[in-house]
Amino acid sequence: MINLETDITKINRVGITTAKRLERLGIKTVYDLLLYFPYRYEDYRAATPIADLKSGQSANIVGQIELIQNKRSPRKRMNITEALVSDDTEQIKVIWFNQPFIVRNLRVGDMVSLAGKIDHEYGSEIMRSPVYEKLANNNNVHTQGLVPVYSLTANLTHKQIRFLIKQAVSCADKINDWLPKYIIQKHKFLSLGQAIKKIHFPSAYPEIDSARRRLSFNELFLIQLQSQLIRRELLSSQAIAIKFHEEETRAFVNQLPFSLTKTQKQAAWEILQDIARERPMARLLEGDVGSGKTIVAVLAMLNTALSGKQAVLMVPTEILARQHYNSISKLLKNFKIKTALLTRSQYLINTSGQATKKIILGAIKDGQAKIIIGTHALLQENVVFNNLSLAIIDEQHRFGVEQRKILKEKSGDAAAVPHLLSMTATPIPRSLALALYGDLDLSVITELPRGRKSIITRVVPEQKRNQAYKFIREEIKKGRQIFVICPLIDVSDKLGVKSVKEEYQKLDQQIFPDIPIGMLHGKLKPREKEAVMQDFLDNKIKILVSTSVIEVGVDIPNAAIMMIEGAERFGLAQLHQFRGRVGRSERQSYCFLFTDSDQEKSLKRLRALVDCDDGFALAKMDLKFRGPGQVFGAAQKGFPELKIATLFDYELMKLAQTDAKELASKDPSLNSWPLIQKKIAKLTKLAHPE
Ligand code: ADP
Ligand code: MG
Repeated sequence: MINLETDITKINRVGITTAKRLERLGIKTVYDLLLYFPYRYEDYRAATPIADLKSGQSANIVGQIELIQNKRSPRKRMNITEALVSDDTEQIKVIWFNQPFIVRNLRVGDMVSLAGKIDHEYGSEIMRSPVYEKLANNNNVHTQGLVPVYSLTANLTHKQIRFLIKQAVSCADKINDWLPKYIIQKHKFLSLGQAIKKIHFPSAYPEIDSARRRLSFNELFLIQLQSQLIRRELLSSQAIAIKFHEEETRAFVNQLPFSLTKTQKQAAWEILQDIARERPMARLLEGDVGSGKTIVAVLAMLNTALSGKQAVLMVPTEILARQHYNSISKLLKNFKIKTALLTRSQYLINTSGQATKKIILGAIKDGQAKIIIGTHALLQENVVFNNLSLAIIDEQHRFGVEQRKILKEKSGDAAAVPHLLSMTATPIPRSLALALYGDLDLSVITELPRGRKSIITRVVPEQKRNQAYKFIREEIKKGRQIFVICPLIDVSDKLGVKSVKEEYQKLDQQIFPDIPIGMLHGKLKPREKEAVMQDFLDNKIKILVSTSVIEVGVDIPNAAIMMIEGAERFGLAQLHQFRGRVGRSERQSYCFLFTDSDQEKSLKRLRALVDCDDGFALAKMDLKFRGPGQVFGAAQKGFPELKIATLFDYELMKLAQTDAKELASKDPSLNSWPLIQKKIAKLTKLAHPE
């Protein structure tokens, strides 16, 4: 007997290799298997009479094996299995390549069900490499009915996974249905067990719809509930009102070397109004790469500091922290505002430059440092603020519940929570952000600063690679700098060491032996990374070979070319982010996409990047190509990983929001719903693993 906790290796026929492959998909138990949903279905409900088959169609046929034998293809040294299958209407030739064992499974006289594509050869129809099953009583899972298709990697076959899920499905009813009964009844939802059975083995399309509706609701409801709980907590707390120093702010804006764009002003105004209240701000500032979010954040921090309070800016990497520290100290040089940098390996303060950790911690604690910039190191225990009133998070979707709690505890003011601003370049549509994040208000910068030239993007075919190198050499001669981004070569190369080193060696030894090149990958120590980045900033290094760490935020105005290897392995939104690293000055910049994929789909995706420089439009296209989990989930942590709901299920999202609101107000502690309590705790932990 199997149950939900049963390890998949205990299901018969699962060997160690298969188990390992399944594990890579996150499947270890029967429960995991059940929650591995198909993403589409093949419709093999009606067998097509052989006489009616047309080439090009996908079809299921049912017939008898008249003949079956292995042959060797003389030219390609391949094994070919040929069979002749007939039904009442006609017969058809069926072939498989390099699967000689089929002749042992299928014998003359067997009734079989075959599903696959019809082709033609010398004027008559044939079926090539179909999925086959011997006909059993109503128990055919691979070739008949609505056959589920899963997204599989790692050498697993659909036959294997369907076979396993077929066995697991008997346990579906044992899963605890955690959604309150009254909600299930209100929306006439399927039970959880039913929904899971139907999603894997439906007998008609309406069944898929109702299963999907129930399972999607589960996901959306939890997200909404989490948002509502956060919002309640926030509304019940107090923040310190930060006075708008109008005169100083205007003077500051007027002395900038550029004028703010309309939407920068709008966003700044929304934020300054928000922080002037005693209700804590929780706002998301969205703007494409290069749209100038930093300066908007600086305006809020400036006002905070002028009010004698502390503001913190937290960013994901050491490099970015340093860069923000440098540019913000410079921007605010006319004010006497103590600005400090605190990361795992960097301790700086603008009054005395290099400092020790102790000095920085002291300046934060006694309130002298007004603007504090850093990484997650700021959340460490030994960091204590004096009167933290504004917290800004750069390049992250969502300020975590946990982080918020930690900062509240550290803020130095037991009664108040800091105002919160998250900034991101990943474009989430406004309606969507509001629906998803009931707890965040939204400001959007929609235009890029004027005077920017749009970046010329090209997909470079292999035969033009040398030409591209020549072009790069000329740009370097003109004094410009180049980024080279490498994809991970294989899964084991998590930190990108191998891929970056290989590319570095090639460029350094063969292509540009006379040009200084640097490299960045995940294995380098923060100090080493910092040094490389500094050399690049100082134009001592002309070419920087890097993993995708360069993606977020870094600003090197002199960089003219972004060259991306294995471009097909990145998402469009991510490629757009890379591209945003160049084109930050008034000179012409370029983005070269290299790919060795000749797949039409990959090329089409990359061409979209050539034609379009609107990050939002690209993210939308990406959604179509790859699904939301890939687009938003991988790009930025903190975004909920949706298995089955889509971000565009507005109607369902609204229902979930209403129900979540109601539950959150009736029982904010969730004490009567221990299962939901557990789910929410897990969601919170997943989104903020640190
Ligand atoms: P992001 O939104 O990607 O964080 P940044 O804040 O790093 O963008 O800004 C990118 C660059 O544009 C910076 O060098 C900044 O000084 C400059 N910048 C910001 N706003 C303007 C503007 N209104 N006009 C011209 N340049 C601007
Ligand atoms: Mg930025």
